[in-house]
Amino acid sequence: MKKSTQASSPFKIVCTLFGHKYVLSKKVTPHVKEYTCKCCKHQLTTNGNGELTELTPKYQEINDILGDFYSRRLMHMKNQNPISASY
Ligand SMILES: [Zn+2]
Repeated sequence: MKKSTQASSPFKIVCTLFGHKYVLSKKVTPHVKEYTCKCCKHQLTTNGNGELTELTPKYQEINDILGDFYSRRLMHMKNQNPISASY
């Protein structure tokens, strides 16, 4: 039987040489975003200090909660908005 999985992707060499090509993959909140490298699918996220860090399962969990909390709050704000434009 042949091995179907390749251990190393040729794209990783490109990343090592030229750096990752990160694209915005998910907007969790206006301040927290997730980025994925177009080449090797390496993921980054914004941490609590506003710095980019590797998207570990722990950060993924935090972002899920954060995103959920944010969208709920946004909906809540939209639902009760007694101040409308008075012009
Ligand atoms: Zn990469």
